[in-house]
Amino acid sequence: MNERIREIDENIQNVRKNINEACLRCGRDPKEVTLIAVSKTKPVEDVRAAMAAGMEYFGENKVQELTVKMDAITQPLHWNMIGHLQKNKVKYIVGRVDLIHSVDSVDLARKIQTEAAKKKVEANILLEVNVSGEESKFGVRPENLEDVVRKIAVLPNVHIKGLMTVAPFTQDPEENRQYFKNLRNLAVDIKSKNIDNVTMSVLSMGMTGDYTVAIEEGATMVRVGTGIFGERNYVC
Ligand SMILES: *Cc1c(COP(=O)(O)O)cnc(C)c1O
Repeated sequence: MNERIREIDENIQNVRKNINEACLRCGRDPKEVTLIAVSKTKPVEDVRAAMAAGMEYFGENKVQELTVKMDAITQPLHWNMIGHLQKNKVKYIVGRVDLIHSVDSVDLARKIQTEAAKKKVEANILLEVNVSGEESKFGVRPENLEDVVRKIAVLPNVHIKGLMTVAPFTQDPEENRQYFKNLRNLAVDIKSKNIDNVTMSVLSMGMTGDYTVAIEEGATMVRVGTGIFGERNYVC
């Protein structure tokens, strides 16, 4: 095993251990939590190293990089689009990714519907919610969520599976606990409306700095980049 493969393997084991411990602390089954390896800016070889360490779920935030990696790797993996998605790029990923985490408008969902219908496929999505209210963040505002959900729910090929959020960057993960709680409460609220074609089984929240707190607050998917692959060379 070369050094890099060993490093990624160790990092993954470490993250898994932290996930298991967080689950134990709050009485959850670790099987409820899916670890997504966020490989953005990292080479395909790093994806392969993570695969060798047992990873099956990967996340990318740019369509171009995502499709390059999907093309390069022939083994079936679960690809997740986690970054802001432009309408003109929807066609490149519909039918190819497991889940689009970052749907933040009815217009975008309608575009996904159009492409999914054209390809005769189904598209599973999460709604990205801006629970922290940071102006720089993408995401539906909590007060608009129900309206957006109802409008997207009528699209026959698009299926809302839950909610996603990107919490603020912070040194102290405890500061983000409130936002994770908010996202969970929003999901509980939407679920209670029993809207056709909408489930709230997925809560995608928590990144390298705060995934254990997110798990304590109910995350079912955590998106970890730096904690698996190390620091990125550039910000994206
Ligand atoms: C980059 C990114 C992550 C992973 O961030 P790390 O802090 O490196 O774990 C998670 N979610 C989204 C949406 C991202 O863009």
